[in-house]
Amino acid sequence: MSGRDWRLPVSLGGRWTGRACDHSRVNGPFTPRRAVCVCCLRPQLTCLCALARPTAHRTEVLVLQHPQEQRQAKNSVAMLRLSLAHCEVVVGERFAPEVLAALLQRPGRDTRLLYPDVPAAPAPSAPGTTAGAPLRLVVIDATWRKSLRMLLEHPALAALPRLSLVAPEPTCYRAIRAARRADQVSTLEATVQALAMLEGPSFDAAPLLDAFGCFVAGEAARQPPRASSGQA
Ligand SMILES: [Zn+2]
Repeated sequence: MSGRDWRLPVSLGGRWTGRACDHSRVNGPFTPRRAVCVCCLRPQLTCLCALARPTAHRTEVLVLQHPQEQRQAKNSVAMLRLSLAHCEVVVGERFAPEVLAALLQRPGRDTRLLYPDVPAAPAPSAPGTTAGAPLRLVVIDATWRKSLRMLLEHPALAALPRLSLVAPEPTCYRAIRAARRADQVSTLEATVQALAMLEGPSFDAAPLLDAFGCFVAGEAARQPPRASSGQA
């Protein structure tokens, strides 16, 4: 994807600019404007509710979804949200500090950001850890470049202790979306791998990953590959 839609007066590593917060909650009340499924929010013809696989998990998941991803037919977050009972999706590319703070923190839970430790956005040192505390996992759903922008634009995100995937599993996702980074996987796959790391064998996402494979195969059959790049 090109970056021409990025309308913020970007100052990498800068602070909140004071512009209106644009986030919206996907989990909240929804008013359909066209023939869409009220559960997965996709057009009824491409409803994916039948592919949802309820998957038991303990870690809370917060997905900060770039608005472009919400409109992306190949996006993986709808399946993730439908399958995880404790998954909140908030759409936006800029968040007021007080709004973001309220989203990131939950009493009794430590918060982690699922993001690699990269030179452009080094992970903070000496993360505070409460042994055994339940976690809230924050995931940015955007192309690689836009996710980096969102991270650098929000100091509260950049300051979160990181959780990085040690060796991301091979992805089937590139059949429908190209990746810029070699270790890039879909948001669904990355989140599932992170939950497996955190929760161990009690977390069984095999049915969900199988269903995701069906979704990818269906999208690949619907249209030729190529079009956009990045994580979703
Ligand atoms: Zn649906």
